[in-house]
Amino acid sequence: METLASKEGRGTELVSLYVPPGRQISEVVSMLKQEYGTASNIKSTTTRKNVQDAVVKVMQRLKLFRKVPENGLVIFCGAIPQNGAGSERIETYVITPPEPIQVYLYRCDSRFHIEHLQEFLKEKETYGIIVIDASATTYAALQGRHLERMKEITSGVPGKFRAGGQSARRFERQREAKLLSYFKRIGEHANEIFLPLPDLKGLIIGGPGPTKYDFQKGDHLHYTLKDKIIATIDTAYVGEQGIEEVVERSPEVLRRIRYVEEKRIMQDFLYEIGHDTGLATYGENEVRRSLKSGIVKTLLLSEGIDVVRVTVKCTACDYTKQETMKNHLVPDFEQSLNGKPCPKCAIPTIVVADAKDLIDDLAELAEETGTEVEVLSVETEEGQMLKKSFGGIAAILRYKSSN
Ligand SMILES: [Zn+2]
Repeated sequence: METLASKEGRGTELVSLYVPPGRQISEVVSMLKQEYGTASNIKSTTTRKNVQDAVVKVMQRLKLFRKVPENGLVIFCGAIPQNGAGSERIETYVITPPEPIQVYLYRCDSRFHIEHLQEFLKEKETYGIIVIDASATTYAALQGRHLERMKEITSGVPGKFRAGGQSARRFERQREAKLLSYFKRIGEHANEIFLPLPDLKGLIIGGPGPTKYDFQKGDHLHYTLKDKIIATIDTAYVGEQGIEEVVERSPEVLRRIRYVEEKRIMQDFLYEIGHDTGLATYGENEVRRSLKSGIVKTLLLSEGIDVVRVTVKCTACDYTKQETMKNHLVPDFEQSLNGKPCPKCAIPTIVVADAKDLIDDLAELAEETGTEVEVLSVETEEGQMLKKSFGGIAAILRYKSSN
């Protein structure tokens, strides 16, 4: 998505096409034919040619589908300058969305219209936040960048210093009892607020002073929530401001937690490799084979690999072939197919039908066999190792491969 968002045309010549499920391919093609005709009115020769070329490319791609896939189809196509003016090359991206799209849209603009796809990338995971001190507790939920304030309760616990004339022990006992009932209430409200949230990934507890630790020592939270505590943060403030502080620091906290997780995953893999247990493998071919035979427990992919799986198809016969290559080599490869005879029917009609990130390609294969997928950053030493020493693709196996 980032790649697509960064692409810019020289003029208004980048085509975005959204086809929702249920449309007829033929209907879309005839709409595109009209757009091709309309484009002949464009004054600038270059722009006109680029738009018309893009429309033709889109039609070609579209005709490779017998019918619109069940989630619909999105095609981006247009002349993208590679190295300044005059170096434009037609780039095409065919995307089958993860969920059904609703819009039917054709746009020709200086950018690709990716906004209707971005919907699907919205963060669904939710984090609960509780900010506690001896005077009050505030609850909030953080979903992606959206913060929802849920509740605030006050403690009713008196300050630490007794009024004159009161018995010190009696005062202390009363304070303890009030604190305990406050902790109970904190727990009850937390259970009520956070247990029903379906995508609750973790709980962060914040607050100034030691009260938040005292609360955590007791058994006031439902055990599933207790297990979800991922961090305890010292804040300067309570209430709304305390929540804001936690939110500000949450990316760093979540990243740190993820790094620990990534290190552990990679160390599990290295253990199998180091002890020669036969329960680990790496490299695209080996991993793909293991995935297909359903023996992969965890698939490890480095987000640092910029490699795509290209599908070549013949538009005249049923010839098809897949190849893996560096992302930046795709345009040259596509060019090299021009006029090349199909190995099967000898007609020069072979085209790139699809170029999919290798990460997505393998992740889809993993999904089919119920395999866990872990995409590791290159921010940790272990993540670097996955990328550099193991080609960015590795797997921990359920059992030894039979071959
Ligand atoms: Zn052919």
